[in-house]
Amino acid sequence: MRLAKKSSNLFRARAASNAPGLDVSGLTGVLAVDVAARTADVAGMCTYEDLVAATLPFGLSPLVVPQLKTITLGGAVTGLGIESTSFRSGLPHESVLEMDILTGAGDIVTATPDGEHTELFHGFPNSYGTLGYATRLRIELEPVTPFVALRHLRFHDLDALQTAMDRIVDEQVHEGVRVDYIDGVVFTAQESYLTLGTLTDEPGPVSDYTGQQIYYRSIQERSTDRLTIHDYLWRWDTDWFWCSRAFGAQNPKVRRLWPKRLRRSAFYWKLIALDHKYSVADRIEARHGRPPRERVVQDVEVPIEKTADFIRWFLDNIPIEPLWLCPLRLRSTGAGGAPCNRVANERTWPLYPLHPGRTYVNVGFWSSVPMTGADGAANRLIEQTVTEFDGHKSLYSDSYYSPETFAALYGGKIYTDLKKRYDPESRLLDLYAKAVRRK
Ligand SMILES: Cc1cc2nc3c(=O)[nH]c(=O)nc-3n(C[C@H](O)[C@H](O)[C@H](O)COP(=O)(O)OP(=O)(O)OC[C@H]3O[C@@H](n4cnc5c(N)ncnc54)[C@H](O)[C@@H]3O)c2cc1C
Repeated sequence: MRLAKKSSNLFRARAASNAPGLDVSGLTGVLAVDVAARTADVAGMCTYEDLVAATLPFGLSPLVVPQLKTITLGGAVTGLGIESTSFRSGLPHESVLEMDILTGAGDIVTATPDGEHTELFHGFPNSYGTLGYATRLRIELEPVTPFVALRHLRFHDLDALQTAMDRIVDEQVHEGVRVDYIDGVVFTAQESYLTLGTLTDEPGPVSDYTGQQIYYRSIQERSTDRLTIHDYLWRWDTDWFWCSRAFGAQNPKVRRLWPKRLRRSAFYWKLIALDHKYSVADRIEARHGRPPRERVVQDVEVPIEKTADFIRWFLDNIPIEPLWLCPLRLRSTGAGGAPCNRVANERTWPLYPLHPGRTYVNVGFWSSVPMTGADGAANRLIEQTVTEFDGHKSLYSDSYYSPETFAALYGGKIYTDLKKRYDPESRLLDLYAKAVRRK
């Protein structure tokens, strides 16, 4: 059984299937926004673009809004998501209050933090639709203001960046000004930035990076900036972080001709799909006498104290830049008196275990390297090094773990017990088959 969905942000290759898929076209809307309670009831396949469009008019936002507009709430909860609020609000599943889940057994159950299906509630994040599909989720919302003021801090060495990030995550303040959002970009070991965002009501001029200007370049060019809250939340979608570069969309001449409505991650996905179908990039490499390229599209998490060392290792071994950085902590242990989750927050999330009280940094890299030797050589090397750094890898892209290592990292017996209970006839794929065997 598979989902028949128009969009996807899953990067791993999947075996071709002729199965018709489950029609979820009726599960794409926002069902209700309760302004007083600051909650929303949302259908499982609702995109964050539609969700944010429904909440912003009330001055409210989901606590974590993944950067790509077509990521859905169900997809981000079952497949994890992260953004610049994750240092105070954790991951998207940490602000879910309850979920209706269509299980592999064919039942629809309501999973809550403490009810009969508490194990499913906690085991659902990082299960990638292998236990069931979320059809409705009730989530918490937080108040936001019309504008976000940005500060781009430049660092000339990675240790200084790591120290500053650690302090700001802890204190949630920089130079006396509150920090509501934080992420970062590494261009080289000598040039990296932290971007701090502060919510503000103060009217004034704002920048627009949906036209000719490019957001990630602005980080290098200016030390302060202002965006509307809408444009801040979607600042990375227009150029798919920096990945639109590969399609020529950042060349000023091409950009002027590129229709604005097609400057969005969903359209770049279509170009990637065409490339996969016709091997365009590999043919171009072959014409230049170069080997085909290995796709290296991953998000990994390393403990903050090892971040500078990991990035140095990465830049020395994998020829990809820029890198995206985003600090995160489990929300229940948020620093600086962050609001406590209303759900039973001491419980951990067994399929993606993070240590309470520890700060991690998500490092994202989305490109390719020349193929050398074994299938997935660069991805395997990264996977192994991340484990050596006591880190984790998200599973939306290619993975190569052995079954034993995978079980040790992603829930092991807890997952198998959940699978037996909620999908006893294995109508849905198993997580290892889906994430590693690319079924
Ligand atoms: C280049 C790239 C960069 C990324 N960067 C980020 C990032 O910066 N921040 C971030 O938050 N995330 C990022 N992601 C990861 C993304 O959030 C996850 O891949 C997420 O699972 C995608 O959600 P989707 O809605 O597009 O789901 P899909 O791609 O359609 O599906 C993902 C998986 O979830 C399952 N699924 C989908 N909907 C449901 C549901 N309602 N219930 C149960 N299972 C379901 C599907 O079966 C599938 O296995 C990135 C991904 C890529 C490829």
